Amino acid sequence: MNAEVIAVGSELLLGQIANTNAKFISNQLSELGINVFYHTVVGDNANRLVETIKIAESRADLIIFSGGLGPTKDDLTKETIAKHLNTELIMDEVAIRSIEAFFAKHQQPMTENNRKQALVLKGCDVLENRHGMAPGMLLENDNHTYILLPGPPKELEPMFQFEAKPKLAAKMHDGAVIISHVLRFYGIGEAALEVQVQAILDDQSNPTVAPLASDGEVTLRITAKADDELTAWQLINDKKQQVLALVGDYHYGNDDDSLASKLVERLLDNNLTIAAAESLTAGLFQSELAEVPGVGGTLIGGVVTYTEQAKIEQLGISKDLLDQHSVVSSECAAAMAVQVKKKFQTDIGVGLTGAAGPTGHGNQPAGTVWIAICIGDEQPLTYQLHLSSSRNTNRLRAVKFTYSFLMRELVKSGYKK
Ligand code: ATP
Ligand code: MG
Repeated sequence: MNAEVIAVGSELLLGQIANTNAKFISNQLSELGINVFYHTVVGDNANRLVETIKIAESRADLIIFSGGLGPTKDDLTKETIAKHLNTELIMDEVAIRSIEAFFAKHQQPMTENNRKQALVLKGCDVLENRHGMAPGMLLENDNHTYILLPGPPKELEPMFQFEAKPKLAAKMHDGAVIISHVLRFYGIGEAALEVQVQAILDDQSNPTVAPLASDGEVTLRITAKADDELTAWQLINDKKQQVLALVGDYHYGNDDDSLASKLVERLLDNNLTIAAAESLTAGLFQSELAEVPGVGGTLIGGVVTYTEQAKIEQLGISKDLLDQHSVVSSECAAAMAVQVKKKFQTDIGVGLTGAAGPTGHGNQPAGTVWIAICIGDEQPLTYQLHLSSSRNTNRLRAVKFTYSFLMRELVKSGYKK
């Protein structure tokens, strides 16, 4: 089955919002093994929408629409599709009752255009909207499947996952279950990882194994299809063991784990405290850690020492050291880690300094980063990065590399309290 995703909305064309719905839907369809060949975006204009639908019908079996199901005049997706398919819109009794109940509960007058939201294409499967008013629709017509979803992601995402996806899965696989499990890796590039697991990637049918790289980490998604969940998980676990036998050294977690969450877990489990002194990342190392609940049990504090003066005054780093080695140096990063550890009396101190870009620092090119990690009474360890992305991507990658270096050191040394 081949699919096309049509996002309807002039605000997408005007650049006011990003088409995250298409990304979400594609991701979900790939889990079902449905190929997406085209993403289309069209404004709130009936004629152009019809043109777009005709093109999609010529090249896709499944056409998924996002947006334009609301009550206002510019919301014209279902009206246009009804006209195009020569069918009519009928009032859905369940939807109208839930809209009436909503207005009664909030003691607001209900207007005629709110009733319009309960109109659905005749003969469709109605997709319940648990987070809004406009129901979605799934319609089979003349060798095509049309799915209409509301624009707001908080409505579209659960509607797709819980209402549309099971119906598509049943259509695709005659009742089989499909389960995906994501393995997360750090400290290895996508190309290097692919080379190591090449035999597994080459020889795949069920489960399938798909690599993906993002923000300095690599993931492998294992997807299995079976008659029941238990069998699907057995297939996944067997494949996972094969993968980990090859690249297990770089594996840090699964599914929704993040480098930060696994690091915080390890620090808490081992009763370790941490502080950071940040220059180019200006607090990002601490901020990303602070996204993890419970971080207060390990992150004691830190400083942003952006300028040379701040490094001298806040951390007591000597001007001689900075004059001799510059602020973008192994020596400066090491001094930052040692001094911040002392200042906050923690078990671990981290120092981050560098030139985020677009310009370099002195004779150091943009993207040069020095990271220092000081664990217990050991000498600080320093690492140099040569990053080549944009300024803010470089800053984020510097943070992720720091988490991964620290994690690796903690695992290697087994350091605990
Ligand atoms: P509503 O009832 O809220 O009007 P709707 O189904 O009519 O919903 P739209 O009016 O097209 O949907 O879009 C409503 C909002 O949903 C947009 O303002 C935007 O915030 C979000 N949205 C719409 N399309 C997309 C998209 N493709 N990707 C991400 N967000 C989107
Ligand atoms: Mg709308």
